[in-house]
Amino acid sequence: MNADDLPTLRGELEAHGLWARKSLGQHFLLDLNITRRIARAAGEISGKPVIEVGPGPGGLTRALLEAGANPLIVIEKDVRFLPLLQPLIAWSGNRLVIVEGDALAVDESMLTTHRAAVVSNLPYNVGTALLVKWLKAGPWRGDMTLMFQKEVAQRIVAGPSHDAYGRLAVLVQARCQARMEFVVPARAFTPPPKVASAVVSLRDRADPYHDLEALERVTAAAFGQRRKMLRSALRTLTPEADSLLLDAGLDPTARAEAIDQAGFRRLADAWRSLAG
Ligand code: SAM
Repeated sequence: MNADDLPTLRGELEAHGLWARKSLGQHFLLDLNITRRIARAAGEISGKPVIEVGPGPGGLTRALLEAGANPLIVIEKDVRFLPLLQPLIAWSGNRLVIVEGDALAVDESMLTTHRAAVVSNLPYNVGTALLVKWLKAGPWRGDMTLMFQKEVAQRIVAGPSHDAYGRLAVLVQARCQARMEFVVPARAFTPPPKVASAVVSLRDRADPYHDLEALERVTAAAFGQRRKMLRSALRTLTPEADSLLLDAGLDPTARAEAIDQAGFRRLADAWRSLAG
């Protein structure tokens, strides 16, 4: 099957009198070369379950079906797009399942019993909230290939001592190996957003850190005052900041941006022992 045989996405939008709604973060990819590239970044998905949030007019949906996703479960909040997506059910030989709803509220474990890859061009306004939700998800969630604003993508993949390094990097990298795949310029979208976007791949780590709650608490305190030494910044968490840092084997005069994943894991463990 070849998605080039389908009516063009631009033609479909025009035929249905549809336009992008800013409030829903709608910036569409109408060029199949780009959506195919995103599908390829997801690796081998043929015959495997995939979840896509925000299919919109269906550019990435077409590419994922073409790559063999089975089933492809799409979750879309804007009902206006359902008539554009429905014909893809028959075209794909019934591999497409359309769920109408808010992805933040959907329980994906009810949609798939098998581990599913997540591949999406995410709406900017809820992109990080969805990512954090999926980090905490149960065994249904497989590897993720996600498009964010470039600046958010940089915050996800950053390592210690980079300006973009912060809470998001530490939390994501506790569960996943994060890699920047490629940047997509703003002009590639209809309508173009103000900034560029980037695709990030997030593969499950062999050694995930499980106590995300503890990690959320220590990173909130540590990066809440990122210019301060840890011994001061962590006082919002505990009056015993110095002994907490000692337990974690960290230098109390260091700053949060210098602490790597292993250091934050030790700090979260030490806080958990202290807090009980
Ligand atoms: N995947 C399409 C593409 O690449 O052209 C559209 C991407 S557009 C950036 C984001 C899509 O997410 C829109 O279709 C929008 O309606 C949808 N959306 C926004 N908020 C949503 C939510 N909370 N739950 C599900 N879909 C949502």
